[in-house]
Amino acid sequence: MLIVAQSQLAGAGYLVAAVLFILGIQGMTHPRTAVRGNLLGAVGMLVAVVVTVAQLGILPLGAALMAMLVGGATGYVLAVQVQMTQMPQLVALFNGFGGAASALVAGAEVVSQVPNEATPVGDTTMLAAGTAGLIGALTLTGSLVAAGKLQELPMFNRKFDWPALPSANIAIAAVAALFLLLMLAGSTWPFWPLALLACVLGVTLVMPIGGADMPVVISLLNSYSGLAAAAAGFVINNDVLIIAGSLVGASGLILTNIMCKAMNRSLAGVVFGKLEPTAGGPTADEVYEGKVKSTSADEVAMLLDGAQRVVIVPGYGMAVAQAQYSVRDLAIQLENRGSTVEYAIHPVAGRMPGHMNVLLAEADVPYEQLKTMEEINPTFSQVDVAIVLGANDVVNPVANTDPSSPIAGMPILEVDKARTVVVIKRSLSPGFAGIPNPLFAADNCLMYFGDGKQAMVDLVTAVKE
Ligand code: NDP
Repeated sequence: MLIVAQSQLAGAGYLVAAVLFILGIQGMTHPRTAVRGNLLGAVGMLVAVVVTVAQLGILPLGAALMAMLVGGATGYVLAVQVQMTQMPQLVALFNGFGGAASALVAGAEVVSQVPNEATPVGDTTMLAAGTAGLIGALTLTGSLVAAGKLQELPMFNRKFDWPALPSANIAIAAVAALFLLLMLAGSTWPFWPLALLACVLGVTLVMPIGGADMPVVISLLNSYSGLAAAAAGFVINNDVLIIAGSLVGASGLILTNIMCKAMNRSLAGVVFGKLEPTAGGPTADEVYEGKVKSTSADEVAMLLDGAQRVVIVPGYGMAVAQAQYSVRDLAIQLENRGSTVEYAIHPVAGRMPGHMNVLLAEADVPYEQLKTMEEINPTFSQVDVAIVLGANDVVNPVANTDPSSPIAGMPILEVDKARTVVVIKRSLSPGFAGIPNPLFAADNCLMYFGDGKQAMVDLVTAVKE
């Protein structure tokens, strides 16, 4: 009787956790509700952990509390200390740890079955355990490599051009599949070599992918960590793990798809291809020589003096320079003089989805002023001054004009249609795609060279004067 009541209580707890996860994800659909959504998801996870610990009853309360305290405190310190530009690395580490946890849960379950050979583990459990081990271990090492690449650690950014690699990967995958089949035939020992091979695959699959494609890879690995968790949920018969894992798996896949679409690239192109400047494309000298006009803070301030409508286009450089606060200061100055200020947000500006939204929200920029590419593009011809701050590829007109360019077909913010474009960056260096940008040489474009933050601070001072 007591056991039935206990399991009903656990079921109710899991239901509450699952509802909180779903409400959490729903909250994430809008910046205004995102913080609440995040909190709801975290509370859901706390409920799930407490119920699981209580239901299993194998961990002394003190040990469980200590584990939660250590885990919670580590997560808090990491999240508070991480720089916004390092967020993708942190997410990669979290994904990797999630994958490892799922693989270990499945492994522990498989190990605990060994003494009971009289009642062999069912096929479904073995399949789920093998899947959790395979995907979880691959996610762990793949995520570590991805984080290392984004952190620009030299050992992860070495040239990795080994022609036999694809065949080696296929061979490793084939042996892994063999171990999975052995597990299905009833053996539990192949779980560990299977997980080990998956660890190798995580490295060999992610290592050759360019560092700049890592955000897409991280989003994909995020989805994998969810799938591994869902598989682990089937192994230990835990509903909330299946639900949470499926939510992470599905949302990670959707996000990966959105990122690929916004870059006009296929997932296969990201995972198996390389983003490199096409040989034979125009050189920087050919594009820029004698055509680039540089400007100063005072000159831009004069331009802004008569501007009715100003659009700010932030990019990766704003994140690097941490210029979002000065951007807001400039907008306030301009608005006080009667100008309309809006922000044009490209879906893949920066290095992670929503990168610009997060930075501008951090600086208290009103969300209503953030316009999507679809909203703002048709109106650029009515813009007096477009200020491009540290953005490059997302405003490169070559995407529309050169089918052989690495960003061909990528939808861009059409700033070149504005009356005047001011581009703030340190030099004529290319962006992520490594190609020159003819916008910088356009008749209506002025280059304001400098670090994004310093340039903005100087501009605010010049506007005030
Ligand atoms: P880009 O990478 O194209 O360009 C960024 C520019 O910022 C550089 O040209 C650089 O020029 C400038 N910059 C760097 N540091 C500073 C600084 N301190 N002050 C001023 N400028 C600076 O960025 P975009 O945002 O335009 O485009 C993003 C690119 O990343 C796209 O190609 C996209 O496909 C890709 N990508 C985006 C993902 C996402 O989820 N957002 C995921 C994966 C890829 P300089 O050195 O001269 O200053």
